Amino acid sequence: MTRQYVVLGNGIAGQTCAEELRRLDPDCSIVIIAAERHPLYNRVALPRFLRGQVREEKVMMRTLQDYQRQGLDLYLSTWATEVDVRDKVVRTNRGQEFRYDALLVATGGRPKPPPWAGVEEVEKVFGFQTLDDTKAIIEESDRSRSVLVLGGSFIAYELAEGIAYRKRAQVTWLMRGPWFLRYVLDQEGGRLCQLLGEEAGVRFICQDEVRRFTRSNGRYLAETGSGQRVEFDMLAYGVGLDYYVEPVQGTGIEIRRGIVTDAKLRTSMPDVYAAGDVAVFFDHMVGKHNQMGTWDNAEAHGRTAAHNMAGADEDFFDVPTYTTTMFGSTLAVMGVTPDVQPGLESVRTYSFEERFFRKLFFMDGRLVGGIMIGPPKGRKKLIEIMRARQPIEGPREALLDPANLR
Ligand SMILES: Cc1cc2nc3c(=O)[nH]c(=O)nc-3n(C[C@H](O)[C@H](O)[C@H](O)COP(=O)(O)OP(=O)(O)OC[C@H]3O[C@@H](n4cnc5c(N)ncnc54)[C@H](O)[C@@H]3O)c2cc1C
Repeated sequence: MTRQYVVLGNGIAGQTCAEELRRLDPDCSIVIIAAERHPLYNRVALPRFLRGQVREEKVMMRTLQDYQRQGLDLYLSTWATEVDVRDKVVRTNRGQEFRYDALLVATGGRPKPPPWAGVEEVEKVFGFQTLDDTKAIIEESDRSRSVLVLGGSFIAYELAEGIAYRKRAQVTWLMRGPWFLRYVLDQEGGRLCQLLGEEAGVRFICQDEVRRFTRSNGRYLAETGSGQRVEFDMLAYGVGLDYYVEPVQGTGIEIRRGIVTDAKLRTSMPDVYAAGDVAVFFDHMVGKHNQMGTWDNAEAHGRTAAHNMAGADEDFFDVPTYTTTMFGSTLAVMGVTPDVQPGLESVRTYSFEERFFRKLFFMDGRLVGGIMIGPPKGRKKLIEIMRARQPIEGPREALLDPANLR
């Protein structure tokens, strides 16, 4: 009998799963239900698109013909609204029903709503998650004199740097924490980010919060707890994600912010799997449940989920990595960091003059994570060491020197 697979979401997790299923089984039926109106695109390239460094065509990763060629039945602009785990059926907002033998939920997340009291006063408020968000941000920020970016997340950073890079609007970046990525970087790492940001023309306000938003002569005014006043035309923000768990709510599938799975990406209901940003999966890297928000993790999840949906019995294990720009420099994060696992031991080195910072994290004598600002030399080797999960012999500081990592 032909097996029937249904995949919710055509981000990198859902897409990888669907393509891997097709590779494993040329005869199966694969339905992809996708809320957005685009075939797969590269979410990680959105900051480059915002900066004007890549064109939209380069952001797109698949065409409609690619889906046809692979026999993937794609339903764009369609929301899965309900999963019936007893009859094994998915229902959509267009009144369709799709039966499944195995189902993947790879629905990712959406920006949390802006949490600041009085923000309803501001009409021009933008989160940064989709291609369509990016186009709207470009259009609005290019006609703004001043943009206020709120939040201390990676997304807030991408907004501050991307809009500043366009050189149309003055950017003020305001965050509650004492520095960017306060749970991962220490004070010196945070200071280096700020130094690089100020060189790129961004004005920083740290350890502060907006107390009041008001309209002021066709513009907006933010007044902060410490008494600062910022006039702006547009607000962009990043304070984390809420996850699209709605289709499985009330089914008995365990939800804890995202959808809980074991290390094989199986949810608590038979034949229902979750992958990518939405999955709270058992992570062998840290020995507990974990949720990642990175491209490579979502792609690798998609592959493992496909294997298991097709009958394998595979545990997911990978060293997570995240590399992005840092105001013209590079920021690379690898493995386990103190935001996921507090109390890690660490060694570090930095130089403000040479604009670099490197910090490595250890648990039970093993190298488990790291963060680097500046050229990420030796990154591959460090990831190899993390994957090997062997105790580190010799002084840990030696790993800070790229010359020792060839
Ligand atoms: C601006 C930006 C920059 C980033 N930069 C980096 C980076 O430099 N490095 C890195 O590693 N990661 C980065 N990330 C994170 C990375 O893009 C994500 O971790 C990854 O794309 C997650 O893939 P996913 O398939 O799990 O989910 P998504 O890509 O979010 O895809 C899920 C899809 O499912 C759809 N969906 C939701 N609900 C339903 C439903 N009910 N029915 C049907 N469809 C539904 C959603 O609309 C979405 O299209 C960045 C993210 C953003 C937004």
